[in-house]
Amino acid sequence: MESTDIFDTLLVGGWIIDGTGAARRRGDVGIQGDRIAAVGDLQARGATARRVIDAAGKVIAPGFIDTHGHDDLMFMERPGLEWKTSQGVTSVVVGNCGVSAAPRPLPGNTAASFSLLGQTELFESHQAYFQRLESLDPMVNVAALVGHANLRLAAMKDPLARPTAAEQARMQQLLEEALEAGVVGMSTGLAYEPGCRAERDELLGLASVAARHGALHTSHIRNEGDDVIASVDEVLELGAGSGCATIISHHKCLLPRNWGSSATTLGSIDRARASGLDVAMDVYPYTASSTILIADRAESIDDIKITWSTPHPECGGRYLADIAEEWGCGRKEAAERLAPAGAIYFAMDEADVQRVLAHPCCMVGSDGLPNDANPHPRLWGSFTRVLGNYVRRCKLLSLEAAIAKMTALPATVFGLRDRGTIRPGAYADVVVFDPDVVEDRADWDHPTLPSVGIEHVLVNGTAVFPEPPQRRPGRVLKRNPERCAA
Ligand SMILES: [Zn+2]
Repeated sequence: MESTDIFDTLLVGGWIIDGTGAARRRGDVGIQGDRIAAVGDLQARGATARRVIDAAGKVIAPGFIDTHGHDDLMFMERPGLEWKTSQGVTSVVVGNCGVSAAPRPLPGNTAASFSLLGQTELFESHQAYFQRLESLDPMVNVAALVGHANLRLAAMKDPLARPTAAEQARMQQLLEEALEAGVVGMSTGLAYEPGCRAERDELLGLASVAARHGALHTSHIRNEGDDVIASVDEVLELGAGSGCATIISHHKCLLPRNWGSSATTLGSIDRARASGLDVAMDVYPYTASSTILIADRAESIDDIKITWSTPHPECGGRYLADIAEEWGCGRKEAAERLAPAGAIYFAMDEADVQRVLAHPCCMVGSDGLPNDANPHPRLWGSFTRVLGNYVRRCKLLSLEAAIAKMTALPATVFGLRDRGTIRPGAYADVVVFDPDVVEDRADWDHPTLPSVGIEHVLVNGTAVFPEPPQRRPGRVLKRNPERCAA
């Protein structure tokens, strides 16, 4: 380090939390181009920069990695991605829950869960999707999974049937092509059509292909309610049988009678990890879930809030029980009349959320649904809510531990090389925030309010927040074949 160093950006006098879980230390961070060039006592030794940011009293941390996004088509439709940058997110993994931007279904095939993504036509292949992403300069970095529903719908004439040998081979070939294009793995949505039709042999065949490429299987498991324990075991067994690294998506226990089951599911995960299985999970920090409106849930869950409805857009933001009363019908019938629609389900327990979030292999994933008219607040507030509510208010986690769940841990799990840590040589994905102020503001009644306390966000060395940049700096993060076990 020479005293004459001139950086592009110099962050001065902050508390550096490097993402690894190590204790904070005071210092400066010098950025040159798209990388962190130096970390330490830089200004006192004479370093200068074209842009100096005073970070006194603030935390300098790696930009957050949203492990569970559904922003696949938002890079085209709403490329500002303010719901990401305003909470410090600099990378997102898309293609979750079995649905992704590619490959495109055969003509006539579709699935209700595609409505989570947006209006843009799906892409023929991940090669085409990645080309499009690269040509339009994404705001944040993006890694992608290929959805199992896409594979089924692109390979099978009757996607609700059991695949023939030829169709299974075709799905595996499509998966292989996506992996070669650079996806980091395959996602399954075993609770949705057509993913719920898949049996063990089909999934094992696909997971084995992913395993051969050092890629992941992430799963929205078959059932998060009465069968949550067996459903976790199902994906753990697929991991054991295929050797494929496994991520349990948005882990939760739905319905009061299943509250507390996370003690059992986390025990299963611990045993699997002890036996050598590469397992992780993600969670969003709320006691309500959100997805498409499922009429079968209408009677079993008391509080259901409608987020959007194609035949009844005026019902967005209202509670199903109120709509049913107004219409003079049962809740199930009201739900059937509202479909296709989206909903928020208030059916989780705070103790489970905290137990899952605190688990050492649990990462933070927003599962945010930017295509919803009245979205679940997790879209705008997941990361800042962990920092404000679960670190500062509840003291469930240290700030260092919480940041590790958002940075170095997901970078390791997804094989995102040189991301998720503050160290010389790493990419300059950086967030500066006020640890005494940072928190979410989005709530059930105001779901798109931006967070407070996030002061600066840089992606590959370029500032993206509070002011958007002239040229968007994000990149497509393609599969790293040397991904190592977490
Ligand atoms: Zn899901």
